[in-house]
Amino acid sequence: MKEIAVYYKNIIPSLKRIKVKSDGSRTQYKGRKNLGPMTSWPHPSNENNIPCFCESQGGTCGRNMLPGLGLEIWHDFSVSHHGSGPVDSYGKDARRGMDKDTKFGRLSRYDFSHCLDWCERNMSEPASNRKRKGKWSASGSYQWRGYSDGLYPGEKYPVIPEDRNWQQLPGSNEFYTFRAGSSYKPELHAQFVPCYCSTLGCPHTNITNAHSEYYYVHQLPSSRSRDVDSEDE
Ligand SMILES: [Zn+2]
Ligand SMILES: [Zn+2]
Repeated sequence: MKEIAVYYKNIIPSLKRIKVKSDGSRTQYKGRKNLGPMTSWPHPSNENNIPCFCESQGGTCGRNMLPGLGLEIWHDFSVSHHGSGPVDSYGKDARRGMDKDTKFGRLSRYDFSHCLDWCERNMSEPASNRKRKGKWSASGSYQWRGYSDGLYPGEKYPVIPEDRNWQQLPGSNEFYTFRAGSSYKPELHAQFVPCYCSTLGCPHTNITNAHSEYYYVHQLPSSRSRDVDSEDE
């Protein structure tokens, strides 16, 4: 997701906020490995050793924060089994197209890099009958990216997730919107449902629990340094 943000930030340098609407995959989006790094998006970029000012009255907790992208992120989820969109059907189009080309001897697939190459060659934009003119959809050019889980040989594809250890966010599955907007602390605003009115004078607070849940998600010491800690103890 960060790569997508950087892509748009390069096209629109004044970009301040990314709004994501997605399905609510627990493992992909609602775990600490996503929510933790999300909080670093609004932090200044190209700066290391940014002190964390999460204590009340602006005090620092003594930790440093990760550099960010200088971008806010608002991520809204739909409930389980909802929220599939054009992107999902395009994924099926790719599979169908590859099956066809394999059948007619135009493609040999051994691993994901062959699939990725095929998609880059054949699916640079939606087919004309899929453009959904006048509707909200992904109708521009398609950007294809490949990532490795660390098992693919060589260094052609970046490995994700990066090995980062983040504080848990208990109950995160029960929330359907997360917003990170602080440039000086790793803060996440969690809400049961998205509300787009301003915090002051929101008429929905009693129904939706909107604007009320704030969390700090700190990066924890890596497991290796924690081992050292426990040895010291
Ligand atoms: Zn802190
Ligand atoms: Zn509201």
